[in-house]
Amino acid sequence: MAPVCGRACVWRGGRARWLRLPPAPARLLPARHLGGTPGSTFDVAVVGAGIVGLASARELSLRHPSLTFGVLEKEKELAFHQSGHNSGVIHSGIYYKPGSLKAKLCVEGAALCYEYCDQKGIPYKQCGKLIVAAEQEEVPRLKALYERGLQNEVRGLKLISSKEIQAKEPYCRGVMALDSPYTGIVNYRQVAFAYAEDFQAAGGTVLTDFEVKDMAVAKESTAGSEDGMKYPIVVRNSKGEEIHCRHLVSCAGLYSDRISQISGCSPEPRIVPFRGDYLVLKPEKCYLVKGNIYPVPDPRFPFLGIHFTSRMDGSVWLGPNAVLAFKREGYRFYDFSFQDFVDAAAYSGLWKLVLRNFSYGMGEMYRACFLSAQVKQLQKFIPEVTINDILRGPAGVRAQALDNDGNLIDDFVFDGGTGDIGSRILHVRNAPSPAATSSLAIAKMIANEVERRFEL
Ligand SMILES: Cc1cc2nc3c(=O)[nH]c(=O)nc-3n(C[C@H](O)[C@H](O)[C@H](O)COP(=O)(O)OP(=O)(O)OC[C@H]3O[C@@H](n4cnc5c(N)ncnc54)[C@H](O)[C@@H]3O)c2cc1C
Repeated sequence: MAPVCGRACVWRGGRARWLRLPPAPARLLPARHLGGTPGSTFDVAVVGAGIVGLASARELSLRHPSLTFGVLEKEKELAFHQSGHNSGVIHSGIYYKPGSLKAKLCVEGAALCYEYCDQKGIPYKQCGKLIVAAEQEEVPRLKALYERGLQNEVRGLKLISSKEIQAKEPYCRGVMALDSPYTGIVNYRQVAFAYAEDFQAAGGTVLTDFEVKDMAVAKESTAGSEDGMKYPIVVRNSKGEEIHCRHLVSCAGLYSDRISQISGCSPEPRIVPFRGDYLVLKPEKCYLVKGNIYPVPDPRFPFLGIHFTSRMDGSVWLGPNAVLAFKREGYRFYDFSFQDFVDAAAYSGLWKLVLRNFSYGMGEMYRACFLSAQVKQLQKFIPEVTINDILRGPAGVRAQALDNDGNLIDDFVFDGGTGDIGSRILHVRNAPSPAATSSLAIAKMIANEVERRFEL
C-alpha cells in the first residue's frame, strides 16, 4: 500500500498495521529547527498540534502577522492522535441538528476543505456516500435524515431506490438510500501538515516533545526585562522547561479536560475515550466498495455506525466500532492506564452513561471480540463479504465529552474561565467528528473568539 505522511498502513502477520515513517514530510522542517526553543515568548500559545490546533494557529498567524504564535505539542510528530487516526471522510453535514455549530461548521468546513486541497495540491476524492436503509423499518429515519440534510443546505442530496443503489454500488443491497455526492475522502494528516507549513511560513513556531504539565502566573520579570509583565503566563512541560505567553488556546483533544484543570478552569465536561477498531478488506476484495457506504445511524448515539470507507491509498476500511477505552491514547484492545481508569471510574457521569447503555456497550464489546458478529452487520449491506475477506486493521480513539448526568455532548464546545490564567485561555472542550472536516471553519470561529475575548 502507498505510504501516508508519517506512517504507512502495511500488511504484517495477517493484519493491517501502522508503520512509523520518518516524522516529518520533506517540506516541513523538524520544529525544533525553526527557532522554537523552550524559553520562547508568544502572544498566543496553542496547546495541541492536532488538526484543530494547527488550523487555529494558522488562522491566527495569518490574521495577525505582527504578533507571535507558538504551538506546543507533547508528541514528536504532528497530528499523531485523532487527526492521524480517523476515517478520512470529508463529511457533507447531513447528520447534525439544524442550527448547531456542528451543522454550520461542517457545511462551511467541507467547502473550505475542498478549496484548500485544490490550492495546495493535496489529493482528495469526491467519491460520494450512500446512507443505506437495509430494512423497511429504517426508511422513516432515513427520510428524516434527508430532511435534516436539506435544512442544513447540504449540496446534491437525493433519496434513491434499491435499483439506483446497485447502479452506484453494484454489491450493496438496501431498500432505499440517501445519496450524498458531495462527500469525499482525504488524508487529514497531510492536511494538518499543510496547515503547519502555512503557520511556520507566517512566522509561527511549533514546539514538539513539549508536554504541558503546569501553568502559573509569572511573578517577576527575568532580570531587567519586562517580559514577566508582557507575557504573564508561564507554561511548563514535563521536563521542567517553560515558555511564556499572553494568551492560550487549548486544543488538546483527549486531554482537553486535563488541560482545563491545569489552567484552573472546570474539569467538566470530562473526556471519555471511545476506541474505534477498523477492519480492512483484503486488497483483492476492494472492488466490492466504490465510495462510502454508511448505515442509518442509531439516533441515541453520536457515532455513525460501522461503515465501509474507501481510503486515498485504494484500501477499504470497515468500521469503526465504539468501545469504552481504558486508556486515552490506547490503540490496542488491552491498553490500560491506571490514571485514566481511576479518573473515569471516579466520575459519576460515566457510571450513569454505562448503566443507561449497558446492553449496547456489551454488544459493542462482543462484536469487537468476535469478527463473525461484525461480519454479520456488514453483510446486511454487502452480502458477499465473508470473514475470509477481512483482516483486523488500525484503531482510533475518539475524545468524547460527557456531562455529569451521563449525557454524551453532541455539539462542539468552546469555553474559558475566570482568574489570572482562566481569563486568558480559550478551551476547545469537545471537537469530535466531523471536526477534521470542519477544521478551517472551526479555526475561523476560534480566531474570532480569541480576538473578541483577548482584544488582539
Ligand atoms: C476513529 C475516528 C474516526 C473519525 N473519522 C472522522 C472523519 O471521517 N471525518 C472527520 O471530519 N472527523 C473524523 N473524526 C474526528 C476527527 O479526527 C477529530 O475530531 C479531530 O481530529 C480532532 O482534532 P483535534 O486537533 O481536536 O484533536 P487531536 O488530533 O487529538 O489533537 C490533540 C493534540 O493535543 C496534544 N496534547 C494533548 N495533551 C497535551 C499536552 N498536555 N501538552 C501538549 N500537547 C498535548 C495531543 O498529543 C494531540 O496531538 C474521527 C475521529 C476518530 C477517532
